[in-house]
Amino acid sequence: MTTQMTGKVAVVTGGSSGIGFATAEAFLREGARVAICGRSQETLDAAASELARIAGPDQVFAYTCDVLEEEAVQAFATSVGDRFGRCDALVCNAGQARTSNFSNTSDQDWRDEFELKFFSVLRPVRAFIDMLEGSGAGAIVCTSAMLARAPEPFLIATGATRAGQLNLLKSLSKEFAPKNIRVNAVLIGLVDSGQWSRRFESGEGPDGSKIPIGLSKEDWFIELAKSRHIPLGRLGTPTEAANAILFFASPMASYITGETIEVTGGQARNV
Ligand code: NDP
Repeated sequence: MTTQMTGKVAVVTGGSSGIGFATAEAFLREGARVAICGRSQETLDAAASELARIAGPDQVFAYTCDVLEEEAVQAFATSVGDRFGRCDALVCNAGQARTSNFSNTSDQDWRDEFELKFFSVLRPVRAFIDMLEGSGAGAIVCTSAMLARAPEPFLIATGATRAGQLNLLKSLSKEFAPKNIRVNAVLIGLVDSGQWSRRFESGEGPDGSKIPIGLSKEDWFIELAKSRHIPLGRLGTPTEAANAILFFASPMASYITGETIEVTGGQARNV
């Protein structure tokens, strides 16, 4: 069985790091062409060079843009059209979590988190929808979070907006089904990515706990897995998240829309 991605074009927002980068790698290995975007030119250039080593520079397109800037996202889509002529899969992956609880989340923080979680989907979808329809078998996949179903008080705004995002994706799946565009989400638990490396470097866990001085990142990850009761006993890898995204984006999932896959190492407690 193959993913049947050969010759297709996949767009990955936030494809310059972590899960998005691993997803771009996975598409290239399956014979697709890939367009990625991110805000930092430097990170994007480094990612594009690394990706080009997998399948050659002709297969990779990198574009600097913030997914929250409508005109920039539209220009990204136009450039993808100019470069590759099509888009078969759109992965809305760009973003990050906001660690705060009720008492230290300001109204502006709530607005910012709403903006990130909703418009990081709405703007790319609006920009790429015509190409996805033109594909004849388009797919939208959102990298979302287990938090959408299992809120944590120290990630209050991220959990609430991720839950709303799932609701939005379900509506999109119904509206776009007649265009033969599927819409699904991968719900991540804890995956070892740029976000978690940055938290380790900051010396503070997402719940505000101090990371003991001298503890290595690897040992902190093991402690995290224990404290979060992850049955598989470790954080996931970006590639493990990417595999689920690739599945939803590919024709292998051609009869699946409006659904989720949880990539949590068994952490999710719901049935
Ligand atoms: P990383 O920080 O490694 O990657 C995030 C990527 O998104 C980078 O390429 C970053 O590039 C890009 N990005 C962030 N904001 C924007 C923006 N406004 N416009 C364009 N690009 C942007 O983190 P992850 O791989 O962990 O995160 C990927 C997704 O998975 C995120 O949506 C995250 O919330 C979600 N997730 C991750 C979990 C985990 O445990 N890792 C858990 C649950 C959900 P740049 O900064 O240069 O813009």
